[in-house]
Amino acid sequence: MGSLEAVFSRKRLDIDTLEELEEALILADLGARTADKVLREVNARVKDKTIEAGDGLRDGVIDILRGIMAGAMPSAAETIGQPQPWVLMMVGVNGVGKTTTLGKLAHHFHQQGGKSLLVAADTFRAAAIEQAAIWGERAGVDVIKGQPGGDAAAVAFDAVQAASARHMDRVLIDTAGRLHTKAPLMEELKKMQRVLGRALPDAPHDIWLVLDATTGQNGIAQVRQFHESLGLTGLVLTKLDGTSKGGIVINVAQEFQLPIRYIGVGEGVDDLRPFDVAEFTAALFD
Ligand code: GDP
Repeated sequence: MGSLEAVFSRKRLDIDTLEELEEALILADLGARTADKVLREVNARVKDKTIEAGDGLRDGVIDILRGIMAGAMPSAAETIGQPQPWVLMMVGVNGVGKTTTLGKLAHHFHQQGGKSLLVAADTFRAAAIEQAAIWGERAGVDVIKGQPGGDAAAVAFDAVQAASARHMDRVLIDTAGRLHTKAPLMEELKKMQRVLGRALPDAPHDIWLVLDATTGQNGIAQVRQFHESLGLTGLVLTKLDGTSKGGIVINVAQEFQLPIRYIGVGEGVDDLRPFDVAEFTAALFD
């Protein structure tokens, strides 16, 4: 966020500085609407003299963004592990980090205790099935694998039935992510959602969309499409260890009122953290 650094180094909080601030916020993927909101609040604070140039401006902007995020995101109802088994569908377009995130989650849950089952239901890509199996081994959890080209919903159904019979605690389902192929992805995912409800009442208990922090404003379209089709219950933001600070989710949170459950900060098994609004907004300006 080099341009924001430049804004925060200005000695005077004049109209030019504020214009630069607005531009820098937009460039940081916060979107025009959020940038406008921040600017209006900064202006109000300038009038009140409760905000100053330099570090005062930085702290003020962080404070304003934290307020916007906290107001937009419902607190995440902690359903994990309550129904037995708790069933999670992880969705998102190819390459965002679904399988990796599920592997990390499986590891996290394994460490917490209880039995998890990882379900490789991306039957469209043989490599994804193999990758999920490797993650299952790494995390020390059982894996149920679909056959390449098989019926993903049937794999998920069987997995939930098996997990119920074996009194397992969590079922973590990896899904396909290709958008533009013959079988429409949303229809396949909706079918899985329906079929899961037949395997276990109220399943899936959660559907989380994985968003790549480097996606930029295109992430909004992804959230809209998946949310309209499936009714998401949360988001996971990956690749925050890269150059992107994930400013996009401030927009997403406001537009869709969806809680961010976890963030991915690397490719390793331990590189998953619960989302923290204060930490996240402060890191936007590191
Ligand atoms: P999927 O197609 O959505 O299942 O995505 P994958 O789980 O296969 O991940 C795609 C690529 O992104 C892989 O190379 C992962 O190692 C990488 N990846 C996933 N999460 C993160 C993260 O938080 N940070 C970084 N740096 N890479 C990640």
